[in-house]
Amino acid sequence: MNRNLTEDRPTFVTHLECSLTGERYEADQLHGLSRAGRPLLVHYDLEALGRAVSRDTIAARETDLWRWRELLPVRRTDSIVSLGEIETPLIPIPRSGGGQVLVKDEGRLPTGSFKARGLVMAVAMARELGVTRIAMPTNGNAGAALAAYAARCGIETVILCPEETPEVNVREIAAQGARVWRVNGQIDECGAIVGRGAAEGRWFDFSTLKEPYRIEGKKTMGLELAAQLGWELPDAIFYPTGGGTGLIGMWKAFDEMERLGWIGSKRPRMYAVQASGCAPIVRAYEAGEEHAERWEDAATVAAGIRVPKAVGDFLILRAVRESGGAALAVGDPAILKAVEDCAKKDGLLLCPEGGATLAAYNQAVRDNLVDEDERVVLFNCATGLKYPMPEAGQWLDKNEAIDLGAL
Ligand SMILES: *Cc1c(COP(=O)(O)O)cnc(C)c1O
Repeated sequence: MNRNLTEDRPTFVTHLECSLTGERYEADQLHGLSRAGRPLLVHYDLEALGRAVSRDTIAARETDLWRWRELLPVRRTDSIVSLGEIETPLIPIPRSGGGQVLVKDEGRLPTGSFKARGLVMAVAMARELGVTRIAMPTNGNAGAALAAYAARCGIETVILCPEETPEVNVREIAAQGARVWRVNGQIDECGAIVGRGAAEGRWFDFSTLKEPYRIEGKKTMGLELAAQLGWELPDAIFYPTGGGTGLIGMWKAFDEMERLGWIGSKRPRMYAVQASGCAPIVRAYEAGEEHAERWEDAATVAAGIRVPKAVGDFLILRAVRESGGAALAVGDPAILKAVEDCAKKDGLLLCPEGGATLAAYNQAVRDNLVDEDERVVLFNCATGLKYPMPEAGQWLDKNEAIDLGAL
């Protein structure tokens, strides 16, 4: 077992708070949304934490997600079910992006997407708090990560996918032991069914941001970035935004690290990237609204960001605005072109959502939102191998004469 998981370490969780009203909730109890129907955020005793561990101590540990243990909510090491949550690399893409562009390649995590970060944490906490049945609506990757971690510790899962979910994801979920159903609707409509079962006490609701611990897992993206870049955050981050867990989580990580004195006050401009076929956050951002209305008839090749309505909308918008960033929409043709460019010119196969961040970056450079010398991080959230690729159907007949020069 990984050395970071062999010893018990204290957690510094003090309580949870409603992200809208600030109402306080006890730690060590099972919680969904707050009474105001909004996400709960985990709070830590950062003073005690800072006395107990320094950034240098953490930097000296094995580089995986669990090196951040003191900043995470799990109390008992034996609650953790790990599939090897490695630190993901930062890959330069000088030809398709530019000299200062790095891709944080999250496709290398267990189950091939960054949903593993959130779900490894949420499952550990569910286990710690005695949950035995979980249900979730998913566009694919979250369900796959939930299925994998839950299977590993014997928690039963019921997973509902919108009809447009990529086939590979539905099969992957089933292969990992979940009971999976396709539903003739969008992800929020699947979520409504999950909510009905939860209200009847049939299962615990694991919808995005409806339990408090996925954000804490996703927060590790922000912690890792700081450590990887010498405790100096980049100038801008482009994040493909569906439910926004990662963007909200990173923003929380930056705040916690600053209060610990591990980083300064410099923040990256946060760019929330959506597909123009489903861009509720972009519409709300442009209209100056605090909340985002549901996007009707959502459609895009980037399934991971096909989220018509996000419960954490106001948290995404707040982080984007406070950071001086923006919410940007890109069309499917630009997304597919970016995936092709990055693979052909830089040898890195992005998922469509990752392609969206590259397309948005290039657009932002053209629109003078971002300067080419600025250090930028794009998130590739899943391995490109999970997605359909353009056909490559050329055949050679081994029994015929072969013109080797023409190959
Ligand atoms: C879930 C997902 C996203 C969106 O992540 P959020 O943090 O929920 O906004 C983006 N890309 C991929 C591949 C995903 O699976």
